[in-house]
Parts: sequence; structure tokens; C-alpha cells
Amino acid sequence: MAYITESGKKLITVIPGDGIGPECVESALKLLQAVNAPIEWEVRDAGASVFRRGIESGVPQDTIESIRKTRVVLKGPLETPVGYGEKSANVTLRKLFETYANVRPVREFPNVPTPYSGRGIDLVVVRENVEDLYAGIEHMQTPGVAQTLKIISRKGCEKIVRFAFELARAEGRRKVHCATKANIMKFAEGMLKRTFEEIAPEYPDIEANHIIVDNCAHQLVKRPEQFEVIVTTNMNGDILSDLTSALIGGLGFAPSANIGNEVAIFEAVHGSAPKYAGQNVINPTAVILSMVMMLRYLEEFEAAATIENAILYTLEEGRVRTGDVVGYDKGAKTTEYTDAIIANLGKKPRTVQVRDYRPIQLPQVPPDPVFVRPQTRRVVGVDVFVETDLYPEPLGRALEQLVAESPFKLKMVSSRGTKVYPPTGAITDVVDHYRCRFLLRDEAGEATDAQILELIQRIGSRFRWMHIEKLQEFDGSMGYTKAQGED
Ligand code: NAP
Repeated sequence: MAYITESGKKLITVIPGDGIGPECVESALKLLQAVNAPIEWEVRDAGASVFRRGIESGVPQDTIESIRKTRVVLKGPLETPVGYGEKSANVTLRKLFETYANVRPVREFPNVPTPYSGRGIDLVVVRENVEDLYAGIEHMQTPGVAQTLKIISRKGCEKIVRFAFELARAEGRRKVHCATKANIMKFAEGMLKRTFEEIAPEYPDIEANHIIVDNCAHQLVKRPEQFEVIVTTNMNGDILSDLTSALIGGLGFAPSANIGNEVAIFEAVHGSAPKYAGQNVINPTAVILSMVMMLRYLEEFEAAATIENAILYTLEEGRVRTGDVVGYDKGAKTTEYTDAIIANLGKKPRTVQVRDYRPIQLPQVPPDPVFVRPQTRRVVGVDVFVETDLYPEPLGRALEQLVAESPFKLKMVSSRGTKVYPPTGAITDVVDHYRCRFLLRDEAGEATDAQILELIQRIGSRFRWMHIEKLQEFDGSMGYTKAQGED
């Protein structure tokens, strides 16, 4: 897993990052040296300074080469500049190395007062990290209508679900919740739910529950101690994990890991907090705990427990706490806090315990791009998306005339997912973006590409179309959903 140097140590890549990043990372590395962990590092850059050098990805080639070699990264936060640079360098790093699992643990800390103090919060959000709306596939379909594609694959679901169960086992946790919006997005979010329900029986030692994500947010605020592991899609996980950070005292205490089968990147949940940069006042705990997660990933369990125990002991003592906990006028400097933790290495807290960790078994799924192979498939029609300033009735009548002599009949027209033609009697606002659904008149037949192209030509003779989607059946099941109000 790790690259071993000539001196027999494990080599990692360190990216100090932007804003408060270098202070946090320095603090973590000081602790790493203090516990004498058999780790060496090489420092590489990414983020704002790289964007300024004109590298649009924010990640230079020598950083990519280093990560390809070491496979393990400890990273400070990277600023996503507004106005220059194309994409977030963070997202680029996560995606370049297929770190599909974003692991965000939170636990209650002694002497970090929150409205939840005393309730023993100790949970992990496992967020799918590369798919979903973060696929970043966006189009302006009309000048006034935007579309972002939510891409969820069965392969991606299988990897993240298995990862969540394996993580629960490795950390001695007994329960996994799968949080989805499958009630609304039956295919995309439903894929995670179905995969979870299929795989759960392989882990009989772990209780498996599905929960609708909005109720999950509600339950997290009401009774967070009921959760141990929450597995969820990318966007849901992004939001839920910021919420869970707030439950235990804020971003200064929230570590994370981006784990793939080849590479793992460890970083705080927080960003570069530019207003505190260079002031030696921020809380480095999140980055230190991210490093603790890294040590466990590298199977340096003793070093990890020693550092985590020293943090817990320092907080339990309560003498030295940072400004985010006690107010910046009274808070310890970042370096003082780090030195206090170093002085406490080897001590164990009285009121809280570090859990026992075992190595995690990373799920192995076949690399084959085709993950689901149906016995039968059939194209039964096509959705054609058109831009027009017409209202639904004249549009529907014009389309019916255009296809009167074709193999297709107009089934319905919808605006933003709600059927507006044939008229339903409902009061629906419309925009200049309609989905027009055509089905084969021959219900047992299969639409050919030639027929579809001819249909597009007919429609294009009168209307501006911008997108088509084939309507398919797989093993006799509809591979498309009905519009709201469609029979
Ligand atoms: P942020 O940097 O996370 O800071 C938000 C607030 O959280 C801070 O103002 C501060 O709160 C608190 N905070 C964060 N880290 C802290 C720490 N270590 N100690 C104490 N308090 C801490 O979020 P942002 O201001 O929205 O984003 C700034 C930049 O970071 C942006 O360019 C963003 O794109 C980037 N970012 C990067 C990552 C990453 O690299 N993974 C993640 C998120 C954001 P108070 O103001 O209440 O004191």
C-alpha cells in the first residue's frame, strides 16, 4: 500500500495548502516527529499559488507524480479562487485518483461545549466522493434554463456501500444508516438504496437501516447519538457532514479522509479560513486528526492512538484551548496548543476512550466498465427537449401535426417535470424548456436510430431542440420515469 523509502520508512506526500493550511500542517508534522512514527514526507504544492502560475487545474505535474508514487497524501486546505483557475483543485485531486470514499468522523470532545455536550456523539459520515452532481456535467439548455446531470452508477454505489460496512467492522461499529432521497429520485438515489439493501445481508453482524435524507438531517439535530455510520451520495454527504461538524464544536475539530483503492488523501473538512491566515490562532485539531486517520490507514495504530489520546487528554485538562472554543481574546496560540499536546504524549484521558481500530478491507469490485448486463433491452420512444416561447396547448397541437405521419405519437409534454399537455386542468407555470415525449405507435416494436433521426428532423423543421433522450426498457422494466401528472 505505502511506498517504503531506503531507510525503511513509509513515504507520504505533504501539501501545506493555502491560508491557514501551512500552520495546521506544521502542527501535525511536529506531532508526527514527536511520536517518532516511521514516516517520511516530500512536500509538494497545489492550490492558489499554482493557479497563479497559470496551471488551470491547480495541481502541477510534479505533485501528481509524487502522489502516484507515495499513494498517501496529507493535505492542508486549498483555496478555490474566484475569478481565475477553472475548477476546484480539491475536487480535481479527489477525482484524479478515484478516491471514492470521503470519510468524515465526528465525536464529542471533552471541554468543547456545545448544546449536545454529554450525549456521546460518535459517528462517521461516509460520503460517495466522485459521482452525483459533482460529476460537474452542466449545460445551459436555453438562455434561461440550466441543467446539471446527477450521475449515479451501480458500480459507484457498490463501492461506497461495501466501504461503509467494512469501515463499520474495522472500527467496531454496529449500525449503518443509508441516507437517500430515493422517494423522489427513484433511479439515481434509489440505486444507492437498492444496492445497500442487497449488500446488507452480507454483513449480518451490522444493523442496516435506510433513512430518507431530509429526516436524517432532522434526526441528526434531534438525536444525533442514534447514528454510528451514515452512507450517502455526494451532495447529501457534503451537507450532512458540515452539519455533523457543527454538532461537536465546529470545523476546527472535523477531520476527513478521501480513500480509494490506490490513493488516500487526508485533510480537514474546513477550508483555508483566509481571515485567520498567518496569525497563529486557529485550531489545528482537524488536520492533526486527519493525520491520525492517515496513520491508521498506514497501519501505524500505536502512533495514531498516542496522538489521539494526547489531544483528548489536553482538551480534558482544559488549560490550553484554541480561540474557536474559548474566544479569540482568551484562546491559546496554535503553537502553544500543539506544544501542549506534545507534552501530553503518552497520557490517556480519563473520561473518554479511543476506540479500537482494525485494518479496513477495501472493497474490490470488478474493473469492467459494464457492471449490469440486462438479458433484454428495447428502445420504446424518445424524449425530445425543445425551446419555444409557445404555451403548452399550441405547442402540443403543433407537435401532433408534425408527427401525424410518423411511427411515433406524442404521449405528453412536460415543463420542468410536470405534465402540461394534454391539458390536466392544473395551474402550472411554464418556461421556454419543454420535454416532449414520443412513444412508438407499435407498442411491441423497437424504435430504430433512423426513425428517431427522422423524428428529430420533423421537429427541427419547426422548433429549436437542444437535447434528446432515448426511452429504454431493460429486462421489461421502464428505464425512465413518468412526468408528474402523467398516466
Ligand atoms: P472555511 O475556510 O472552512 O472557514 C469558515 C469558518 O470556519 C472560518 O471563518 C472559521 O469560523 C471556521 N474555521 C475553519 N477552520 C478553522 C480552524 N482550523 N480553526 C478555527 N476555526 C476554523 O470556509 P470558507 O471561508 O467558506 O472557505 C475559504 C476557502 O477555503 C475557499 O476558497 C474555499 O473554496 C476553500 N475550501 C477548501 C476546502 C478544502 O481544501 N478541502 C474545504 C472547504 C473550503 P469563524 O469565522 O466563526 O471563526
